[in-house]
Amino acid sequence: MNDDTTLTRLGVHPKQYHGAVNPPVMRGSTMVFPNLAALDGKEEVLYDYGIYGTDTAVALREALLGLEGGYGVELVPSGLASISTVLLAFLQKGDHLLVPDNAYHSTRRFCDGCLLKYGVETEYFDPAIGSDIKDLLRDNTKVIWLESPGSLTFEVHDTPAIVAVAKDKGIITVMDNTWSGGYYYKPLAQGVDVSIQAGTKYIGGHSDILLGTIVCADKPSYTKVHNSYQFLGMCVSPDDIYLALRGLRSMGVRLERHNESGLVIADYLSGVKEVVKIMHPGREGDDYHDLWKRDFTGSCGLFGFVMECVDRGALASMVDGLEYFDMGYSWGGFGSLILPTDPRGERSWRSGAVGVSRIKPRNWDYGDGYQTMRIHVGLESVNDLIKDLEKGFERLRR
Ligand SMILES: *Cc1c(COP(=O)(O)O)cnc(C)c1O
Repeated sequence: MNDDTTLTRLGVHPKQYHGAVNPPVMRGSTMVFPNLAALDGKEEVLYDYGIYGTDTAVALREALLGLEGGYGVELVPSGLASISTVLLAFLQKGDHLLVPDNAYHSTRRFCDGCLLKYGVETEYFDPAIGSDIKDLLRDNTKVIWLESPGSLTFEVHDTPAIVAVAKDKGIITVMDNTWSGGYYYKPLAQGVDVSIQAGTKYIGGHSDILLGTIVCADKPSYTKVHNSYQFLGMCVSPDDIYLALRGLRSMGVRLERHNESGLVIADYLSGVKEVVKIMHPGREGDDYHDLWKRDFTGSCGLFGFVMECVDRGALASMVDGLEYFDMGYSWGGFGSLILPTDPRGERSWRSGAVGVSRIKPRNWDYGDGYQTMRIHVGLESVNDLIKDLEKGFERLRR
């Protein structure tokens, strides 16, 4: 099935619901057993407790499995809950974990602040490492975390090269696949064991839900993730799952627009004299474009750029006056966002960093006099967005 068909058809079972196209928001904590035999497990029941989800969750899980491939899916209350549930599933005291240096900041925080406390050591690696990751492996390396493109700086991994090294040693690989929505990139098809997403972003698509998805390639990995999910009491309200399903139905067409407009805005920015760097792997000439082109079929609306900027006051006059670019965390909704960032604060060379690292960090050359930005290009008219940015740069200059 083509992805666009998957997104619109999977989990749609009108016959089960008297012709209604969508599954109901099916609420339930107690799910009563028909008889003692069922309670004793001698007769099968579909649901024995609401925490494992009802028809609403089943529909979303079915659609996600179709989209990303694999054996089993869990739904959790946030993207961050996907990260913690999966890491706790595969790691224990004494284990070593490899995480890319451009990982989402809360991934780092969980590793340095929580896993460390339970005796798991995290080491950060250069996202461009490729098969050289073999040099970082230890006997106790259990998981290699991946995020591609990475947060804030958008480097793309050579995932097949890393996976080949991991497979050779029986190490689990996990991809944070939020950027692609699971639509433009299929990590499981490249041998990755688990793909997680912040469903909060493009699956939800409307800035109104928090959700995490975990898709596992096979039964052994799914069993571990499912146990972790059960240990932690993870669950998602059927209302949020319903909204996620609604978002998922239109994710393909939305992403196509985000992709198209994102590239137009990146091109526009490349002609702005203050802009010194654009970090958009889907764009010709980007350092990671070739890897992206090999593995991805499109880009979402999220990318980064660096501009000359004398001070915070100039930045304020630029961003505070924007009409269509709001400032806020998270992304993947219908609206455009802009966010001043500082990758230096989220990399291994930051002061007070906890995780060990044997990489020689790639220095972020853009300190004083420069400002790194993250932009999410939404579904507005791209011409309106460009006019808005043009006026913003005029204010920056003034
Ligand atoms: C936003 C984000 C998350 C976390 O998602 P939440 O639902 O906000 O917890 C995880 N990974 C990446 C790459 C993200 O951008």
